[in-house]
Amino acid sequence: RILRKRTMQWEAVIGLETHIQLNTRTKIFCPCKADSWGDSPNSNICPVCSGLPGVLPVLNRAVVEKAVILAAAMHAEVNLVSHFDRKNYFYPDLPKGYQITQYDEPIGKGGYMDLSVPGGSARRVRIHKLHLEEDAGKTKNVHGQRLIDFNRCGVPLIEMVTEPDMHSADEAAQYLLQLRQLLRWLGVSEADMEKGHLRCDGNVSIREKGSTVLNTKTEIKNVNSIDALRNAINNEIDRQVREVSAGGRVKAWTLDWDDETQTLKMMRSKETEADYRYFREPDLLPLVLDKGWVKGLIESLPELPLARRDRFISEYGLPLYDADILTGERALSDYFEETLRQYGGDLKVVSNWMMNEVLRMLNDLGVIVDELNLRPTHLAAIMRMIDEKKINAPTGKALVKKVQASGQTPEAIVQAEGLGLVSDDAALRETCQAVVTENPAEVKSFREGKESLIGWFLGQVMRRTGGKADPGMTRSILLDLLKGG
Ligand code: ADP
Ligand code: ZN
Ligand code: MG
Repeated sequence: RILRKRTMQWEAVIGLETHIQLNTRTKIFCPCKADSWGDSPNSNICPVCSGLPGVLPVLNRAVVEKAVILAAAMHAEVNLVSHFDRKNYFYPDLPKGYQITQYDEPIGKGGYMDLSVPGGSARRVRIHKLHLEEDAGKTKNVHGQRLIDFNRCGVPLIEMVTEPDMHSADEAAQYLLQLRQLLRWLGVSEADMEKGHLRCDGNVSIREKGSTVLNTKTEIKNVNSIDALRNAINNEIDRQVREVSAGGRVKAWTLDWDDETQTLKMMRSKETEADYRYFREPDLLPLVLDKGWVKGLIESLPELPLARRDRFISEYGLPLYDADILTGERALSDYFEETLRQYGGDLKVVSNWMMNEVLRMLNDLGVIVDELNLRPTHLAAIMRMIDEKKINAPTGKALVKKVQASGQTPEAIVQAEGLGLVSDDAALRETCQAVVTENPAEVKSFREGKESLIGWFLGQVMRRTGGKADPGMTRSILLDLLKGG
């Protein structure tokens, strides 16, 4: 039996639970600031979120709005009536002794996300549910003392739970990557994993390939980056295969990922639902949404990332690679389309400038698209000046940097620095004539058949004009002089 197991083919089964911090101004049930990143401990709390007796929670409308937007973007069903419940447990970072969450009647049910796995077939990950809840505080050890910071108490979260539909660490990583992209795209969360805006638990089990049973799973906590999720899951799949191959059994552990040592540690065996003694939150009314309001939110959803990527491919004929990159961020894809609209010329030209100059600049400067001084109008103007032979391509590239650095328009810079191409026929002819007159030996060689010397003549003219001569025009004037003369 052990031998058979050793030679068996295994398939991983993975489901993810993510906690998403919504980027509202205030917390979910009180007027405290929602984002207290960097604030001193316990400086951003009030009687409601620190659990003093005799106070009542008041639901933040903006939290509900963002939850509906996310649910709709995940193709989930938005429940017009949902409920809040108390999840009871004792822990020092939970001053009330319970967390307000949504248990059996959450705000969103069902839905899916299609993963775009490069080179692979599309994988649809179904969503089990999305619910609203409040965050707990933080404890930390300082000099042998256990300290508690309540700032995070009451921070609005959406917990979103997938069905166990993923089958590799790469798929899980891709899900998290696309989710992060979507959250930013919708503007519902900053989704910065380092700041805990997006946290993910991975549930992992293995089964014989071809089987459809769900075996005992483990749950991996504390992964705070996409790479960490991928590594932790790969690690856990290997461990389970080794365990079962050796005749052992997978136990329902909760594991803690240590990014430094790249290892998993057992935290505890899992609590059961019954341990939490869920019951309806008596201090909040059922959450009843207006049908028209929900409909309005759904109708005003922006075009979603994958849809926009596919449209870039079908409408503009962009290669998948370019379309993927240009829709990596909503602001970047808007920038691209706006530039294209303003320029009105060849799409390939726009995508080249975007993929090379603009992306390089974003990288080098470490800024986001909206912070660029180089706006789509500027980029479009630069490309048009090249088309109209007012400047040449190297000048265009230099201009991109100059516009970014100075915030001036490209036209103003060209004017001020005299960067325009010398395409005035008479002036150019004069320079060409001078080059021809001053170099009789080269002229002789050329006329005797060494026609490749045309490049050398071109170079001379370029040097004299500081690279601003129109190459095509220069070439034909030179040929005219050399052959005609
Ligand atoms: P729990 O008992 O931990 O509450 P749930 O059924 O609520 O389990 O599922 C929690 C998460 O674990 C979900 O994302 C789900 O897709 C995933 N999951 C459930 N069963 C399995 C399994 N056998 N293998 C891998 N993931 C699973
Ligand atoms: Zn508060
Ligand atoms: Mg559960």
